[in-house]
Amino acid sequence: MPFVSDKVKNLPPYLFASFQRKKKELEANGVDVIDLGIGAPDLPAPSFVVDRLAEEAKHTTNHRYSTYSGCAEFREAVAEFYKSAYDVDLDPDTEVLALIGSKEGIANLMHAVINPGDTVLVPNPGYPAYRTAVQLAGGVNATLPLDDTNGYVPMYEQVDKGVMNRAKMMLLNYPGNPTAATAEFDTFLEAVTRAAEHDMLLVHDAAYDMITFNGYKAPSVLQVPNAKERAIELGSLSKSFNMTGWRIGYAVGNAEVIEALATLKSNIDTSQFLPIQKAAAAALRSDFSAVEEHSRVYQARMEKLYSGFRDLGIYADKPNGTIFLWAQVPDGYSSMEFANKLLYEAGVIVTPGHAFGSRGEGYFRVALTVDEKRLDEVITRMKRLDIKEGTRP
Ligand SMILES: *Cc1c(COP(=O)(O)O)cnc(C)c1O
Repeated sequence: MPFVSDKVKNLPPYLFASFQRKKKELEANGVDVIDLGIGAPDLPAPSFVVDRLAEEAKHTTNHRYSTYSGCAEFREAVAEFYKSAYDVDLDPDTEVLALIGSKEGIANLMHAVINPGDTVLVPNPGYPAYRTAVQLAGGVNATLPLDDTNGYVPMYEQVDKGVMNRAKMMLLNYPGNPTAATAEFDTFLEAVTRAAEHDMLLVHDAAYDMITFNGYKAPSVLQVPNAKERAIELGSLSKSFNMTGWRIGYAVGNAEVIEALATLKSNIDTSQFLPIQKAAAAALRSDFSAVEEHSRVYQARMEKLYSGFRDLGIYADKPNGTIFLWAQVPDGYSSMEFANKLLYEAGVIVTPGHAFGSRGEGYFRVALTVDEKRLDEVITRMKRLDIKEGTRP
């Protein structure tokens, strides 16, 4: 491959692609595959958001380039959302930046902050795009270990002191993918304190901030006093408003980092299509009843699968948010073996935990992105398998 860069050659194989290939093979053989692998909402965006997009698309002035940092209406809507949801004040001109989805923000942020050789603390298990973004920027990934035993809060004491001192950036993600773990304010307070101690930038990925259950409200890292001195938060409409394909998100917080990211991006993209930004602004200025409805749907699915798994002797921590259930692989299988067993013997796709880092081994992630009837079918099929009981009570 003479035309392909080492950077691209060195990217890890995309695990989802191999499962999708197996899915096609099985479907070609008449298997009714239930895909709980990819974390993308199955439901549509709210109709008022779609209406606003259609309306704005008719205004031809919206067909021009957006300002680089995103239009004022969108940035102001983000600032208003932070004020009403978190009582956090943001200057829409210097502390808010529109992103073409938070995944784009994560990738470009690394290039805006990280020099080759710089160390970045990345949650393990965690969203795989963090590791590849660090790698593409020439940074060095260091594990920030998370564990079931303490609710997946960062275990700083297990990170080598030298690594803590060297690290230039630390990434967190609550409510989290893949663990579905949620954080309390104290987790962010400690993170900001540790980041200050070791002179790091703290980046919080809040992709699931609005998908929460049982009255739990996810805090923002910017609620920690003076957090803006060294923290930014990434948000997205993808999961909360079922807008994955729209590609709209935002970065908020430290003005210096926001400006660096905006400068970098102004050399790469020219922000998102204005009607999409304006429709997203309408979403953020709404009463959030649509998001509450989406959360109720995910919670009902989660409850169903959680109790179905329990009957099967498969254990999970009951989550207070996200669109995932993170469950223990029953005794006697690796994550990959169990995922393959589900695929080939039950026609059910789940994601093996090791896809999210070494510490994900022993777990599998289920995306709650099919309806309850299909989840009943998942449990029915799994009951036919000979799965040994797990060992946890
Ligand atoms: C889905 C997801 C994203 C990507 O969201 P986009 O805004 O659609 O790019 C980012 N972080 C986590 C943890 C996710 O699960």
